[in-house]
Amino acid sequence: MPTVVAPAQVATLYEPQPGGKVRCTACARYCTMPEGSHGFCFVRKNVGGRLVLLSYGRASAVQVDPVEKKPLAHFRPGSRVFSIGTVGCNWRCQYCQNAEISQEREIVGRPLSPEDAVRSAQRYGCAGVTFTYNEPTIFAEYALDIVREAHRAGLFANFVTNGYLTPEATQLLGPHLDAVSVDFKGSGEPGFMRRYISAKGPEPIFETTVDLVRRGVHVEITDLIVPEVGESVDATRTLARHVVDRLGPSTPFHLLRFHPDYHMMDLPVTPVPTLEKLHAVAKAEGLEYVYLGNVWGHPLEHTYCPGCGAVAVRRYGFTIQRWALDAQNRCGRCGHRIPIVGRPPDDYLPTLATPV
Ligand code: SF4
Repeated sequence: MPTVVAPAQVATLYEPQPGGKVRCTACARYCTMPEGSHGFCFVRKNVGGRLVLLSYGRASAVQVDPVEKKPLAHFRPGSRVFSIGTVGCNWRCQYCQNAEISQEREIVGRPLSPEDAVRSAQRYGCAGVTFTYNEPTIFAEYALDIVREAHRAGLFANFVTNGYLTPEATQLLGPHLDAVSVDFKGSGEPGFMRRYISAKGPEPIFETTVDLVRRGVHVEITDLIVPEVGESVDATRTLARHVVDRLGPSTPFHLLRFHPDYHMMDLPVTPVPTLEKLHAVAKAEGLEYVYLGNVWGHPLEHTYCPGCGAVAVRRYGFTIQRWALDAQNRCGRCGHRIPIVGRPPDDYLPTLATPV
């Protein structure tokens, strides 16, 4: 039985090659596929000399989340986002928390048109849509159709991505994205990336982050610290230096705690002192806003004013407990401007209505 292809499923991020092959240009793997073959992510396939996105219109996971969960600390704080994932991934993280969808090779999921996705987002009071749970670059064309629909409805759009994009993908997506959370693993150390996530190295991610910032996209960096095998002062320092030098010292930087999952159940959670040590390394490189994630109740969840050291935003997990900034997002104590896009909605928490 020949594969039936809907017009929307034909990808734009690919190049025809001699002999009926296609070369995918969505991610830095640049898979070349003969007729009938899939790419590494299993959702892009050569059908009759055209690259087809098999997961177009099929969501494997949808959920309403706080934007802080993405994590985004400096973008539309306190807002809700309609989160969408599909199946497949261009990485093979050995500790993936969503392996049941990211490593799924069957195209499963419920039908979700771009129009229905945005209608659902509005119904649940979301301010934006976000693509998360698996790598959105592999379904770029589907995500882009949802983003266009979201913008028509006045919603923002956000990618949670490993950043392993091509310049072609960044050129297609960049003009349409409002915010991106770029998720490094093991600080992007090449040996760790090869062994534990089956990717060559961090260079494409570095280039993607620079390109997105140049296009005016709000970018936050996360770095998941896997204990014992993925914690390196030198690698964190290198990553922090890249962020300071090429993205700017005010780029939010999140050091996330690892939890055992998938094929790496034998490791402990990341010790908090390890995260605190790497936090100090990142700060010493000049980063102004460094956060610890997945350590609820830790004082390094808060936003501290670089001008006077006061707690500018007090957080607990994904919740904002106190907002000590004025109407222009300046520190209530010293007036230093904190680069946060937007403010919590007026009805976010009664305590936040208290004037600074
Ligand atoms: S998106 Fe998929 S098919 Fe395309 S290059 Fe990446 S892994 Fe290969």
